[in-house]
Amino acid sequence: MVSGTGRVLVLGGTGEARRLAGALVAEGVEVVSSLAGRVADPVLPPGEVRIGGFGGAAGLAAWLGANPVGAVVDATHPFATTMTASAAEACAVTGHPLLRLQRPGWTAQPGDDWRWVDTLEEAAAAVQGFGSVFLTTGRQGLGAFAGLTARCLVRSVDPPASPLPGRTSVVLARGPFSVDDERALLREHAVDVVVTKDSGGHMTAAKLTAARELGVPVVLVRRPPLPPGVPVVVTVDDALSWVRAGPGPRTSAD
Ligand code: NAP
Repeated sequence: MVSGTGRVLVLGGTGEARRLAGALVAEGVEVVSSLAGRVADPVLPPGEVRIGGFGGAAGLAAWLGANPVGAVVDATHPFATTMTASAAEACAVTGHPLLRLQRPGWTAQPGDDWRWVDTLEEAAAAVQGFGSVFLTTGRQGLGAFAGLTARCLVRSVDPPASPLPGRTSVVLARGPFSVDDERALLREHAVDVVVTKDSGGHMTAAKLTAARELGVPVVLVRRPPLPPGVPVVVTVDDALSWVRAGPGPRTSAD
């Protein structure tokens, strides 16, 4: 069973994780935020930070055994499936209460031409025949698009690694992005289709508005399923309430 410490491990890499860490620190709660170490110059959350993988579910369980923590909040990105699965597996073994904080996905509005797919590979197939593709899926997984012959615009925080499509321009940028800037970018590159993961949130939603306004279709990759039995909240406030409620029986209905 877990010791009665109030220290919280926040699995991060998202704006929600940073905001949660900030709010907990402001309330006097001890926090250790964990980052994967993918981004060269990450925006660091307040409080203690550790960087780098744990070594799978077993590694995280060992870390939890060696570091006094009373609860774990998995606030990683909706597409960070391996970390989310590891957190569920490790906490099931160690008995640590685990909460999944995951912002809602995006919802189509009138005028949107959205085409849903399940994988990046399916997204690559869905853009066949288009002439100018805006790839905003992040720099990981771009290999799925390597065979595209269309002009491709790739935007990512750090430079993407090969293999990339043959005719690729790269824009290095970190959100948030404004609708005006996104509209200008789509026009400048004569983009005729946008590809994105259903990341949700405000930081990167402007591209969807710009695409709607310009009549450009969007291929969206659906979110992977969450591990069963882990309670889920969609706001930082709800995650704060969960932490404040402290140890005790937790169910997926909490
Ligand atoms: P992933 O595929 O689920 O994770 C791969 C491995 O990276 C994990 O097995 C784990 O290594 C390590 N890892 C991931 N998140 C970690 C964390 N918060 N702390 C410590 N180790 C972590 O995740 P990903 O898609 O590579 O994402 C990596 C990070 O970038 C995450 O923190 C995520 O929140 C953030 N992010 C991801 C995306 C996206 O589209 N996937 C977008 C924006 C931000 P071990 O197995 O060795 O523990």
